[in-house]
Order: sequence, then C-alpha cells, then structure tokens
Amino acid sequence: MKKLSFILIFFILAGSLLRAEEGMWIPLLLKKYKIEDMQRAGFKLTAEDVYSVNQVCLKDAIVIFGGGCTGELISGEGLLITNHHCGYGNIQKHSTVEHDYLTDGFWAMSKGEELPNPGLSVTFLVRIEDVTDASLVGVTASMPSVDREKTIQKNAANIQAEAIKGTSYTAKVTPFFNGNQYFLFVYESYNDVRLVGAPPSAIGKFGGETDNWIWPRHTGDFSLFRIYAGADNRPAAYSPNNVPYKPKKFFPISLRGVEPGDFTMVFGYPGRTTEYVPSFVIESQVNYSIPASVDLRTKRLDVIMAAMETSPEIRIQYSAKKSGIANTWKKNQGVLLGLKKVNAIQRKLDFEKRFQQWADADPGRHLQYGSILEQYKDIIVKQAPFELANTYAHEAGEAPEIIGFAGRFESLIDLAAKGISPEFQKVVDNNKAGIASYFKDYDAPTDQKLLAVMMEAYAKGITPDFQPELLKKIAVDFKGDFEKYAKSVFETSVFANQDELMGILNNLNAKSVKKLANDPAFMMLKSLRKLQTEIINPGLSRGQGQIPELQRLYMKAQMEMQPEKLFYPDANSTLRITYGKVDGFLPADGIEYRHLTTLDGIMQKDNPQIYDYRVPEKLKKLYLAKDYGQYASNNTVPVCFISSNHTSGGNSGSPVINAQGQLIGINFDRNWEGTMSDIMYDPDLCRNISLDIRYALFIIDKFAGATHLIKEMQLVR
Ligand code: ASP
Repeated sequence: MKKLSFILIFFILAGSLLRAEEGMWIPLLLKKYKIEDMQRAGFKLTAEDVYSVNQVCLKDAIVIFGGGCTGELISGEGLLITNHHCGYGNIQKHSTVEHDYLTDGFWAMSKGEELPNPGLSVTFLVRIEDVTDASLVGVTASMPSVDREKTIQKNAANIQAEAIKGTSYTAKVTPFFNGNQYFLFVYESYNDVRLVGAPPSAIGKFGGETDNWIWPRHTGDFSLFRIYAGADNRPAAYSPNNVPYKPKKFFPISLRGVEPGDFTMVFGYPGRTTEYVPSFVIESQVNYSIPASVDLRTKRLDVIMAAMETSPEIRIQYSAKKSGIANTWKKNQGVLLGLKKVNAIQRKLDFEKRFQQWADADPGRHLQYGSILEQYKDIIVKQAPFELANTYAHEAGEAPEIIGFAGRFESLIDLAAKGISPEFQKVVDNNKAGIASYFKDYDAPTDQKLLAVMMEAYAKGITPDFQPELLKKIAVDFKGDFEKYAKSVFETSVFANQDELMGILNNLNAKSVKKLANDPAFMMLKSLRKLQTEIINPGLSRGQGQIPELQRLYMKAQMEMQPEKLFYPDANSTLRITYGKVDGFLPADGIEYRHLTTLDGIMQKDNPQIYDYRVPEKLKKLYLAKDYGQYASNNTVPVCFISSNHTSGGNSGSPVINAQGQLIGINFDRNWEGTMSDIMYDPDLCRNISLDIRYALFIIDKFAGATHLIKEMQLVR
C-alpha cells in the first residue's frame, strides 16, 4: 500500500512537472492550484506577490495596451514598455514623409517632446472575483439556452453596476470554461498615453514579414510610452497640464540574462484559444475557412506589396495595414502545418471515442451527454458552407477599402432618407476628422486594383448562391472583366475622392444624398449586407444559438470525466499567468534550435538589397566598436530568446519575468511550428519568442542616446 501511494505521488508529481508549460492560469486561483508547482519549477515569489487585493503586487505593473496588447510599467514615472508592433499604429499615425518615425525611429529627449495619442488608452486590473453563483441566480437546468443567456446577462449587469458604484472603474463579468464559471473583472483606464520612443523599423521590425512567426529571430520589437494622469494621479483626459503617472508598482529589470532551463513566467492578456473543441470543429476550420482566408489574403497582399514598392508615400500609408493582414495570413499557414504535425484531429477523435464510452456507461450520463457530439457535429457540418461564405464576405467583399469606407456612411444615408435635419448635420460633422485620417493613409489606384482582384476572386471562389446579387450582375454586365468594373467604380464613386466627398458633405441636399445612396461602392456594400443578413447570418445562427450551449455541456462533461486533471480555461482576453522555462527545440529531423540569438546574427542577416534586412549604419558602428556597455554578454548583445510559456495573440508586449519577479524580456511572438498552440499545445514544439530586455536597453542607451530613460529604470545585476 505504502509503495503504491509512493508510486502514485511520483506519477502525479512527474505528471504535473511535465505538463507545467501548458496552461494559462487565472491569477486569483494561483494560490489554490498553481503556486506550489511554480515554486517547484524555481519561482521565488508568493502567490500574493503576483496577485493580491491587499498588497502591491506584480499585476499592478501590467496594463492592457490599446485594443489588444499587453504593456508593463518600468519606472516610477509612468514609463511603459510594449512591443513595436503594438505601438505601430500610433507610431505610423505620427509619421509623414518629412517625419518618418517608422523608418527613422522616434525618441523624445525630454518629457515635453513626448507625443499624445488620441484614442489610445491603457487599462489596469483592479481586482478579480469569482461570481459564478451570483451569475447563475435564476438559471435552471431545463431552461432554453436563450433564456439562460438572458438571465445571466441580467445578473451580470447587476453585478457590474454594483462593483463600480461610486468609482470611475469599469467592470466586466466574463464567462470561463465556455460558461460553466463566471468571473468579475474590475478595471481602471488611463487615456493620456504618450509616445516616448520607438526604434527605426529596421530594428523594431527587423526581418519584416519574412521573419514574422519565425525562430531564430532578431527583431527589436519594443516601443516606449508614458502614462499621464491628473495632479491627483487619477485618470484624466489629455491635457498639457497632466503629469507622469506614479504607478503602485513597476518592474525592476534584470541584466543577468537567461540560461537554458531558467524559470520564466509571462503575465499578460492572451486573446482567444479553443483547446477543448471537438475534432470536427478543427476539421471544418482546416478544410474551409483557414485555407480560404490564406488564399484571399495572399491575393490582397500581392497587390498591396507591389504598390508599396513603387513609392515611399504608399509604403508609409500601407505599412500598418499590410502588417495586420500578413500577420494572420502567415500564422494560419503555421497553424495548418502544426495541427497536422501533432495529429490534432486524430488525437481529438481518440478522445471522443473514450468520451462516448464514458458517457454511455451510465444511464444518467447517457441522458445528459450521450448525444452531445452527434448533435454538435451535425450543426458544424451543416454550417460549413455558411462559414465559408462568411469568410468570403469579409476577406474578399470587404477587402477593398472603398467598400468598408462607404459603409461608414450607412447610418448617415439612412438618416437622410428621413430628411436633412440638424441631427443629420451633426453626424456629418462628427465624421469629418475620421475622413481626413482615412484619406491620409489611402491610395485610390492601389484600392482600385484591390477591388478588381478581390471581386474576381469572390466571383470565382464560391458558388453563386453565396455571392452578393450585385456581384453576380457585375460579372455578367462586365463580361467577367473586373478591372473594367473597378475602373468604372473609381471613375464615379465619391468615396474614392476626398475633395469630392467633402464637397458633398459640406453642401448637403436631397440630390447629393441620393448621389451617396446610389454610389457604386455604397451599393456593393448594401448588397454585401443583404447577403449577410438574409443568407449568411440565418445559416450561421441556426446552429450558432446551439453551439455555445453544446460546447458548454461538452466542456462540463470533459471536466467531469477527468476529475484528476487540473483544467485551465481558454484565453478570453483576461489576465493570465503562464510559466515555463528557457528552452530550445527540435523543429525537424536533424535540426536543433538554440534558445538565444545575438547581435552577431543581426550582422549575419544584414543585406542592403533587401528592405527587411538593412541594418542601420549606427548599429553597425556599435557592433564594430563592440560598444555594448553593461548590456554585453559573451562579447555580444543578446537579442531574443525562446521559452516554453503557453502564450497567444494579445500576449504581445507581456512581461517575461524571472524567478525573482524581475523583467528579463518582452514577449512578442511564437514559433511558426507552434502556432497551433491556440488549438492544441505541444510542449516539444511550442515556444514563445521574447525580446531580451538587454537588447532593448542597449538600443535605448547606446543607439538612441536616450540615457535619461535608462536612469528612470531600476536595473539589477
Ligand atoms: N504576435 C502575437 C501578438 O501580437 C503574439 C502571439 O500570437 O504569440 O499578440
């Protein structure tokens, strides 16, 4: 007996150590489930040091940056670091041909030079609470899923309102485990966030799309911002009188670097994973929506990249847009390969077989769970063509910007149908700033080509039943010549021409409103909307109403079936902890990847002929002089490292923390072989890629000469 329990404990221990890398854990539950495991893996801090409502802790130094990234505080004066690709949109908005901060970088040499970014905010987490019971008040097992959802939403609204009473906080009740648990998140946002520094793209985006999602990597993917607050340190709208925010906590920065096997923790906001879906959900994505999206984005990128080669102005205008399109495009190709490599579908099928046996082995379970998979599969299979149609509507139909832009005027035109009132004029006035910023980054000839290419792909790629009526008519009217069609649109559409559009908006009358409503770009948009509301959405919602409920039950059943397993919830843009270790990997037979890259590797990649691999002269000089200061290690500067933390989109910019809770890196990507980790994590293949903090400091200090920023930080040896 004694021996047996020893063996059992050994296996549980070994099992938990082996599995340590997989999982995105809820900070609130660290103490209960994970901290001991983390400490066994080398972590020196307590659960309270990481997350607490009673004391200052690491979570107080972390923010949601903008819409979908993470950032962290690195000085007592509100200085914040995130990725270059997270700050990119804002850096780009400040860039013109004269002040090309994308190409040349930007460094504020004093606080007065820091640049405000209207619309950019950062959000701190105040606290988390398990509100499962309160969320489910009034919910019964026999309730139809629509009623269940309504009841939960009503409860959530009350919980949220109660949580923020008398504060300037916001609150959100978020479902976990597909709606089997609910947690409340209380947040506080700061809206005056200024750009402090960004390296040139030749550093911050070194390797460009070629190296994106790839290890070995040499990208200096960071940018610096500063949070400003009112005199009382509270959130305040932008004002030149605001002062640097004084954070409760900021990260000390370690200069000691990393060795293979070192403990690492990533603390940030992963966006979305689907680890617990059945095989047929993956199959449908792998067979339909992902390949279609890859194919349509390839076509779109071909047009945009060719145009960017032709002029520096277009390169600046389209750089952020191109990166956004290419990022998903490349990742998805990795996902397809990775899922195949880990045999994801077969593994899920094997599990489903065991699941079915378990469900059928007990009459009660059989009643509750016995037909889940069958019902679920039936819906997914029926839905597949509508999913594909949806992919086409978005990735082909709305790919030309002129279509989406015309869509911005939809409510305006609908309003005008009721007569031009003062209210109408107000909507127009509110739109004017947006119009100017849209046209700053718009090149009509490029978009004309996009319209021709994407509409042709739409017409040829999917059956006519799933095409907008207008597209079918155009194919006939123009005898399949989509270039001719695009030309005619751009000759007549007011949405292609800023002056003409502003002329109309500044002088509205019944006739000009009619012109907007009959505009060819607007009409295509309307036809797409009709397809969406009359065909695609009903097709999707027929099943979609049931899918969340079936997935919830399937999740619940999986947890019941494996009571010994510690489940982690799928990512849902809430704060999570993931821990692992610095570790290389074997991408293919005969190849072994090290854990670290260095400045020497940047020099090896240097190629003035290729835009993405042009090393800036100043960096070459520092390299030749070996002028590395305190950032050197083994006679070079470390640039990036990989570790086995389970991360996802949204973890970009997250702090990578060592065993002592100090900052050692900034998470920014994953390896291509491991991008399927959003669907199935594999400890041998999945790695997160981080910028070694010493490279960021070296660039700030030696390359940019922004030593005053280094002085704000707390460096530890
Ligand atoms: N590059 C991703 C991001 O932008 C991070 C990842 O998916 O690993 O959030």
